[in-house]
Amino acid sequence: VRLATFRLGNEDRVGVADVEHGVVHDVTDLLPSGAGVLDLITDWTRLRPALGSVRSTPAHPLDAVTLRAPIPEPRRDLFCVGKNYREHAVEFSRSGYDAAGRSEELPTHPVVFAKATTAVTGPFADIDPHPGLTREIDYEAELAVIIGKGGRDIPRGRASDHVWGYTIINDVTARDLQRAHEQWLLGKSLDTFCPMGPFAVSADEITDVTALGVSATVNGERRQSGTVKDLIFDIPDLMATISAGITLLPGDIIATGTPAGVGIGFTPPRFLTPGDVVEVSITGLGTLRNRVGHGPGGDRP
Ligand code: MG
Repeated sequence: VRLATFRLGNEDRVGVADVEHGVVHDVTDLLPSGAGVLDLITDWTRLRPALGSVRSTPAHPLDAVTLRAPIPEPRRDLFCVGKNYREHAVEFSRSGYDAAGRSEELPTHPVVFAKATTAVTGPFADIDPHPGLTREIDYEAELAVIIGKGGRDIPRGRASDHVWGYTIINDVTARDLQRAHEQWLLGKSLDTFCPMGPFAVSADEITDVTALGVSATVNGERRQSGTVKDLIFDIPDLMATISAGITLLPGDIIATGTPAGVGIGFTPPRFLTPGDVVEVSITGLGTLRNRVGHGPGGDRP
């Protein structure tokens, strides 16, 4: 199933997308009052059967509604992973933007950081350029894992039991802030710096997650292209590492890292400026398309 959050009038509605027919079914009234996509994923076993009557619900053309991020307000900050594709780890070290230094050695442990929930924005919303705060906006195409069943100390071999599904994230980054503040939270967390979606796709829709291609274009020019199988630390590794001593919660989001080809991988760096359009695509999950705006942007009602 492909879950969506979309605006209808002044309300957020829960949708089930039928991409083949270009529509989104409004399933809000099949769910307990006030339940959103996060509640549905959290209580999936109990609520999933209600989606059985999806065909009887109103259908809207996908291009006639405004999609928000499928989980517009995550329960807590997103877990993100840095330097998790070899060639990207090398380009990041060479760029001089890694406050940890220029060592081109690959990480021996996953580099995990957080991205604030308030950075989340819609799959087609404008990105706020935050003029006066940053002059070095960069894009990062990433596969994100959505946790279903929570848990602690999840062993590799049990990781898939805890995965609800997947979505796409553009881990937009203010490189100047990332470098200046050493810790990455600020540079990664500016409002609108986490386009997400277009859908939350359940794991049963994906035959082999490691086969998925992750790519990005800027103004139509291909910049990034990778495959999930090339992750240095794979999804079970990441889940085992993060859940060692930290309880993962249903609805938690883990962004798995970005392949080579980000703006600071070029000499000179190629940063985003207002008017640029970034598209991030993952096989079977869809495409995010976000313009860098001339103002605050975002999709917050
Ligand atoms: Mg990233």
